[in-house]
Amino acid sequence: MDPQKCAKTALYYHPLFLEHKTAGHPECPERLTAMLDHLDNRGILSEMELVTPREAAVEEIARIHSIDYIQSIADVSAAGGGDVDADTFVAPATFDAALLAAGASVDAARDVLSGRFDHAVALVRPPGHHAGRDAARGFCIFNNIAVAAAALLDEGRVGRVAILDFDVHHGNGTQDAFYSDGRVFFVSFHRWPFYPGSGAADERGEGPGGGLCVNVPLAADTPPERYLSLWRETLREKVSPFEPEVVLVSAGFDLYERDPIAGLGFAVEDFRALGESIAELAGSIAGGRTVTVLEGGYDLGGVGRCFEEYLAGLGALAGD
Ligand SMILES: [Zn+2]
Repeated sequence: MDPQKCAKTALYYHPLFLEHKTAGHPECPERLTAMLDHLDNRGILSEMELVTPREAAVEEIARIHSIDYIQSIADVSAAGGGDVDADTFVAPATFDAALLAAGASVDAARDVLSGRFDHAVALVRPPGHHAGRDAARGFCIFNNIAVAAAALLDEGRVGRVAILDFDVHHGNGTQDAFYSDGRVFFVSFHRWPFYPGSGAADERGEGPGGGLCVNVPLAADTPPERYLSLWRETLREKVSPFEPEVVLVSAGFDLYERDPIAGLGFAVEDFRALGESIAELAGSIAGGRTVTVLEGGYDLGGVGRCFEEYLAGLGALAGD
């Protein structure tokens, strides 16, 4: 990439994401408005291309989820909403918002691969990385990043995908979707022991996917320097030799030290280091291009700054 040229960065966002209403829940619409307001106040939003996403087709979601499960979410939404898991709520607009979240993630990935953008961020709700084939879990309805990866692979756009998950919780839904798939390298760094309970270091994939799953469980008091050192080592020594053609990132800003439900001691500026390490990996194997899909992050006062630092680290801000 020409170092003189500003990176072309796109943000995929739809106002319907705010209509997935979850009163009193940490996974609330204000998460997105806090991030957008922060970028706007910093003069960053106007430098990015804002893309209005489309709804994913049921066939696209069905690469990862069963038809019965997809229909069940449609039914609960149409009936006025309700709980679909101990901590996952469906509102009347949730089904449509979830289709848009998946569509945003698929198109963000396609548009980066086509060269339309250098970096794309799907700023979506509901999040996705805990959602299983037949189950909503942990605030997640459809597994947006898994649906995006499956689209790229099934459409023959790429043969090898890396998914890096730095949300503070284990990305169990994503891991399950590709556990025996030789085309996807999945990395999850997460607090341990913690929700959802999976993600032990000996979960390494199976069959053609054997060795292509790396879990790094970390104690709550792990210093960020230790985290970042292990993260860089994993990207350099394990992900890079797989030679993925595209890097997808499940971004959870609940690593942040002030996050109300989680946290792993990350200061705002540690997200810049995380972004830089991902940019370094993508620069060496995937033309510098990255696709980011939002997962968690619940501190409304800090999530915008964490997001900005991450984007700066990626090299996704104008002037970088
Ligand atoms: Zn999380």
